[in-house]
Amino acid sequence: MAKKGESAGRSWLLIALVVCALLSLYRASPQAAAKTQEATLLEFYEAMESGRLVEPVTRVFDRDEGSTYLAGEMEQKDELNDDGSPKKRKYRVRLVPGENERVMNDLLDNSIKVEVVEKKAAISPFIVQTLFFVGMLALLYWIMYRRMGGGGPFGFGKSKAKVLNGIEAKNKVTFADVAGVDEAREEVQEIVEFLKDPSAFKKLGGRIPKGVLLVGPPGTGKTLLARAIAGEAAVPFFAMSGSDFEEMFVGVGASRMRDVFAEAKKRAPCIVFIDEIDSIGQKRTGAGAIGGSHAYEQTLNTMLVEMDGFDANEGVIVIAATNRPDTLDSALLRPGRFDRQVVVELPTLKGRREILELHGKKITFAPDADLDRVARGTPGFSGADLANLLNEAALMAVRKKLDGVDMATLDEARDKVLWGRERKSAGYSQKDRECTAWHEAGHAILQVLLPNTDPLHKVTIIPRGRALGVTMSLPERDVLNRTRGYFLSEIRLCCGGRIAEEIALGDISTGAAQDIAQATQIARDMVCRFGMSDKFGFQAFVARSPLSGDENPPAFSEGTAREIDAEVRRLVDEAYADAKRVIEENRAKLEELAKALLEKETMDGREVERMVRGEDEAKAEGGEA
Ligand code: ADP
Ligand code: ZN
Repeated sequence: MAKKGESAGRSWLLIALVVCALLSLYRASPQAAAKTQEATLLEFYEAMESGRLVEPVTRVFDRDEGSTYLAGEMEQKDELNDDGSPKKRKYRVRLVPGENERVMNDLLDNSIKVEVVEKKAAISPFIVQTLFFVGMLALLYWIMYRRMGGGGPFGFGKSKAKVLNGIEAKNKVTFADVAGVDEAREEVQEIVEFLKDPSAFKKLGGRIPKGVLLVGPPGTGKTLLARAIAGEAAVPFFAMSGSDFEEMFVGVGASRMRDVFAEAKKRAPCIVFIDEIDSIGQKRTGAGAIGGSHAYEQTLNTMLVEMDGFDANEGVIVIAATNRPDTLDSALLRPGRFDRQVVVELPTLKGRREILELHGKKITFAPDADLDRVARGTPGFSGADLANLLNEAALMAVRKKLDGVDMATLDEARDKVLWGRERKSAGYSQKDRECTAWHEAGHAILQVLLPNTDPLHKVTIIPRGRALGVTMSLPERDVLNRTRGYFLSEIRLCCGGRIAEEIALGDISTGAAQDIAQATQIARDMVCRFGMSDKFGFQAFVARSPLSGDENPPAFSEGTAREIDAEVRRLVDEAYADAKRVIEENRAKLEELAKALLEKETMDGREVERMVRGEDEAKAEGGEA
């Protein structure tokens, strides 16, 4: 019985293979003739703006390279065929991370059709499809085989192509490509020395960690830093992401992990980089674990076994990155594993300046462009945000047909990165606009009048991101600490939109949902986390789990819970009443501002301030500007 099933399976497989091979040969051949040229993103945009793109544009995600590019045909500028039709050429544009979404949005705005393709291997999609087909058959076969008690005939996860997702960095990155994180750079310098010459390092008695954990918010350059370590030491770099292991069958993740380490040991000294380690290295939940967590656990355990199994001096260094170190399983942090942590912070003013300069090298600026001012106006931006800002500005400048990126464009790009892109206001009725104008006027007037607030930057009723309008404020400098006064004002600011709607229109809208959520959250945090309520004083009531956002089982009584709720409500109610008083006292100004917004759509912070405070007062204060 078993024998029969086995041979039947085998012959089926053979037939399928032959058919697939023939099919792929037949279909792949016409493709080979095409000649494709690399194009820059600017060329691509120029073609888009002048309507020379041939639809559809294909967006390809290449899993092997971990890169994304656009491909398709564009008409050549001023070049015609004999019959008078424009000459076409095939292009390919590489997208750097972060550009993806914007380009897709712009294509959407220009109503250009896009096809999205994921390329799994460096061969044509047809072959990928047939391979997939064969793979499915093989899997079936394997499962049947296993049922029958035999060992799998195919070594899963053994094939090298599957194992190494990121493979080695092709274009070398060095420390010169990483700016503004000097401390982190110094801390990893030692690792570079070790990798360059492990035996010399050992002779000198240096102790090198097996694992280094890079901890910091997204986009601060952790991946970049890891690649730079490899680049500086000129060693291979194996990259993968914890999230790669997410959709895997039990056992496959673990086997992949083993293969990566086996390969890495062969190529030592080298670096194994694991991005988003938190997705496999979460605290193990013990009983009641659901579904996939078992698979993660296996992957995690395998990694730990591998790390324990090799001697630190073998030269494989595992670098992992996370922005949530507190969710990591403590087993990861034990000696001999990731016992060294390097913090990669959001860049300071000086750091931002350096990052802007680094990424600005490739950009032509107008004489009035001042990167120092950009750095000052971008507290809280990550390195990736800053790179994005410059990129955005360069593209805007092309569209405006400027010779160089000027200050106004830089400001515009900053706003876009921070508050989302402006949306064309199709389907946005006059009534919505009016409601939004009052709403934003309510926020803005409070932003000007209340103490302890960040300066008002801009108010707009042009929809941005998901919001119908935005009141933008910018902190004056890097903020490391917030005060109680700031939070009290912040809750009041949140109330402003709803209050203005109510006063002016006698009705209220859903536009305040986000404001309400935010006000409630701030009030709750003040009471439960920051010890900022009079009633409870210096006490904390939550051990908020950063993982799920849930609160761990409350360590207080039900009575206290009720009191907390009451205290939160009191804070919010008081803020609402107070904000309402301020707005009512300035009703005339509110109306003036709302009307101006309806007319102008966007107003500068200073303009609003002048209007609200009255011309003279603003002039008296004007010295600082
Ligand atoms: P992370 O891994 O911390 O999320 P990345 O290393 O992926 O961040 O950063 C994404 C991109 O942002 C980089 O490719 C680089 O262009 C830019 N970037 C981020 N931080 C820096 C930095 N400190 N110096 C220069 N560029 C940076
Ligand atoms: Zn609002």
